[in-house]
Amino acid sequence: MTPPTKAFSIVDTDAEVLHVYRPADGTHLRDVKLDTPASVTARAQQLRAAQRDWERLGVRGRTHWINQFRQWILDNTDRLLQICAEEGGRPINEPMLETTLLVEVIDYYSKAAPKLLAPKRLRPHSLLVTGKKLVVHRHPHPLVGVIGAWNFPLLLTVGDAVPALFAGSAVLLKSSELTPIGVRALVEGWNEIGAPPVLDVVDGDGAIGAALIDEVDFIQFTGSVATGRRVARQAADRLIPVSLELGGKDSCVVLSGANVSRAARCAVYGGFANNGQVCMGFERVYVQDDIYEEFVSRVVDSVRRLRSGVGQHGDVGALTSPAQVDIIEFHVADAVAKGASILTGGRRLDRAGNWFEPTVLVDVDHTMTVMQEETFGPVLPIMRVADADEAVRLSNDTEFGLSASIFAATTEQAEGIAARLEVGAVNINDFLINMTCAEAPQGGWKQSGIGSRAGTYGLLKFTRTKVVSENRIGFSDNEINWFPYTAARRKIFRTAVQLVQRRGLDRIGWFLPTNKRKEH
Ligand code: NDP
Repeated sequence: MTPPTKAFSIVDTDAEVLHVYRPADGTHLRDVKLDTPASVTARAQQLRAAQRDWERLGVRGRTHWINQFRQWILDNTDRLLQICAEEGGRPINEPMLETTLLVEVIDYYSKAAPKLLAPKRLRPHSLLVTGKKLVVHRHPHPLVGVIGAWNFPLLLTVGDAVPALFAGSAVLLKSSELTPIGVRALVEGWNEIGAPPVLDVVDGDGAIGAALIDEVDFIQFTGSVATGRRVARQAADRLIPVSLELGGKDSCVVLSGANVSRAARCAVYGGFANNGQVCMGFERVYVQDDIYEEFVSRVVDSVRRLRSGVGQHGDVGALTSPAQVDIIEFHVADAVAKGASILTGGRRLDRAGNWFEPTVLVDVDHTMTVMQEETFGPVLPIMRVADADEAVRLSNDTEFGLSASIFAATTEQAEGIAARLEVGAVNINDFLINMTCAEAPQGGWKQSGIGSRAGTYGLLKFTRTKVVSENRIGFSDNEINWFPYTAARRKIFRTAVQLVQRRGLDRIGWFLPTNKRKEH
């Protein structure tokens, strides 16, 4: 059995449009004008021209406009939710998470950015440089490119643009060809409030993403590992920095003594939120032997109650991409062929659009694709483990390292396990809380990414440092380590260095004749 490939395309180069379809029923939603490499270049040039004044505004001036944008988002939330639910085939609660977090990100950086971006005076660490005044200034990368995925289209594009805008960069976005409408609506909102023209978006497929990388000074990318590698290679050719947020195969570990009721409810939410299309969604569950039966029975009971539907009418939506249904079907079939059992779901839903039943698998093991590769759909495989050590070993047995969750008997036990997991975030007795806290860095280990978003680094990565140094004390017109290199000047310099760098008795010993030194 060979895995299917992503074959779906909605790019119509003849008509110069993207045809956008509703995943819920496959009907045509809207056409969006397709960008070309030439239009990407033109937009990039316009942004570069506007960026200089944006940087000169200073962080407080920029905060004013970003807060106006915040108000626009709040005033237009219902319309944004409607657009995202329709173009993504999602229940309304899912995009609601996006608009909520977008405002949270703005609020965090409104408070944090002025402090983080202010020039920092450094205390000299050594007597040798004690006479120097050192100040670190932060300057933005002028043009930042943000390429986002389709699963959280607003958050993974505009959410990443927010800290770059605070930093003083202009931002050129590229949304996924599957979900361009919501992102475009946000950019229109930015223009509607009369903000400086430092935020724009280009639409198209991967070729337009590649054209964008050729224009920008920093690339922020969210997507699959395979595309992330291509993006990193192209950025390396141009020697521009990248920040990559890539795929995951996140685990949920449930151990004896845990609150099984909460763990089961959380596993269902973590596995099926956004129809399993969450980078940090639970893709593997490891449950200790003595609570396994109770846990599985609770999970299956909950999953059978999930309603497939979109907008106001469902818990789990459609798959945003039709290609995703093929991948999910392949993972389930491969698992069953290797001995897995389906406790509920397991098939495409017999209706128009991209639908798959919420599915629970047991009797799974790590020879199965569903336990190794990203499924990104409504499938929850549950595996029985003997103890915490086995759960940790299996949890780490993956090329990914985004996040994990632990349910254990005590906080101490959970914290001990958290320290052993090879991931960028661990949620104890919960799911995704790290992502809802804008102050917490969010980044993956191993193949799940390079760098992180949110928190201090999530802003400072969009800046370059410039150190301005000067002498605090006026010296003579020549420094002792400058030319000419004479023996006398060398001796003075050497003595000063030895006095500062040698420690304890060694400092005294250095002055003694050579034959006496080792006595000290
Ligand atoms: P893809 O890697 O297919 O695409 C991501 C973006 O890159 C899209 O906008 C895509 O455009 C664009 N793109 C494709 N080819 C290129 C190229 N050669 N150069 C530049 N850009 C290109 O990912 P998906 O959209 O399928 O998103 C799902 C993936 O994203 C999953 O692996 C998921 O885990 C990951 N993800 C990671 C997150 C994290 O924070 N770590 C958060 C959310 C998702 P187009 O779609 O138009 O082809």
